[in-house]
Amino acid sequence: MIYNHKMKEMADIISEHGLEALLGHIHAMAVLLESDGQLISWNPAFDECKKTSPSTSNLRGFFSKKDTRLFETHLELKTQNRWFAELAVEAERYLHYDCLLIPVPEDRFLFIAEPVKMDSATREIIERLNRQVKLFKIESEFAKKIARNKQVEMEGVMVQANEVAQVDALTFLLNRRMIVWKLQDEILRANRYNTPFSISLVDIDHFKKINDVYGHLAGDEVLRQVAYQLRDHIRHPDVVGRYGGEEFLILLPNSKSTAAIEQAGRLSKQIRGTPIDVNEQIINITISIGIAELQPGVDTWETLLKRADTAMYEAKRNGRDRWAVAE
Ligand code: GH3
Ligand code: MG
Ligand code: MG
Repeated sequence: MIYNHKMKEMADIISEHGLEALLGHIHAMAVLLESDGQLISWNPAFDECKKTSPSTSNLRGFFSKKDTRLFETHLELKTQNRWFAELAVEAERYLHYDCLLIPVPEDRFLFIAEPVKMDSATREIIERLNRQVKLFKIESEFAKKIARNKQVEMEGVMVQANEVAQVDALTFLLNRRMIVWKLQDEILRANRYNTPFSISLVDIDHFKKINDVYGHLAGDEVLRQVAYQLRDHIRHPDVVGRYGGEEFLILLPNSKSTAAIEQAGRLSKQIRGTPIDVNEQIINITISIGIAELQPGVDTWETLLKRADTAMYEAKRNGRDRWAVAE
C-alpha cells in the first residue's frame, strides 16, 4: 500500500494514540448519531458547530434551513452517497461541507463532514447564484399572484360579457338574439312533444310621437317602464324579450292562442291603466298585440313571427290598444 504524507501522519497517530486521537486531529467533523439523528458523541472539529446552538441535540438542527430536509432524507434512506450541505459555524453563518453518513453497529451512524475549500471568487459566485435563486422565487411568486388576479378579473369580464351578450342594455330584458334563440328552442320542443305553443308580438302605439313630443330620453324611460310592466305581468314559464326598438316578443310555452289572448287582455289593461311619469309629465301609453299559435309541422320560427307581425298590424289597423290573432 502506498501512503502519502497525510496518511502516514494518520497511521502514526493511530498506532501511537488509538483511533480516538486521530479523530481529534482531523479537520473533518465526525459525529456519532442515533438512527434519528440524535447526537451521541463528536470530535473537536464539530465543537465549532455545537457552540452555535448548545441546546440542540439533533444534528438536523445544525444544517441551514434549506439543507435540513436533505439530511433527513439521507438519514431515512441510509444512503451512503456524499452530498453537499451548509452547516452552522457561527450564528447565522453557514459553511459548505462535503457530507457522508456511514451506518455503524447498533443502528447508529457516523456522520463525517469535511469543509469544502472555496476561494473567495467561487464563494462569491455561489452567493450570487443563491441571491438570484431567491430573487427568482420572489418574482415567480409575484407572477403567480398577478396571474391569479388576472384570472379572477377575466372571469368577471366573461360573466359580464355573457350578460351583455344576452341582455338588452336599456330594458334588461333578453335581447333579440336570445329571445329568437329561445323561440327556436321552444318550437323544437313543441314539435317533439306535440304540445301547443303561442307567441305575442307587442308594439307600443304611436311611440314615435312620444319621442317627438317628450324627447328621446323620455322615450327611453317609457321603453324601460313598459318592459318592467310586461315582465312583471307574465307568468312562468312565459318569457319576454326586446325584439326591436319598441317591440317586445313574449313566448308562451305549452299554451294555445286562448291563453295568449287572455294574457294580451291583461297586459293591455295594465299598460293602459299605468300612465308613466317622466320628469313630472304624465304620459299615457297603449300597446297593440299580434298573437300567433304554432301550426305544428308547418310553421318555422320565421313564419310564426311573420304571422304574429301581420296580426299586430291588423290590431293597429283596427284602432290600436287591442290584440288580434293570426289565422
Ligand atoms: P305605431 O303605433 O304604428 O307602432 O307607431 P309608432 O310610432 O310606434 O311606430 P314607428 O315604428 O313608426 O316608430 C317607432 C319608433 O321607435 C321609431 C324609433 O325612433 C323609436 N325607437 C326605436 N328604438 C328606440 C329606443 O331605443 N329609444 C327611443 N327613445 N326610441 C326608439
Ligand atoms: Mg314598431
Ligand atoms: Mg309602435
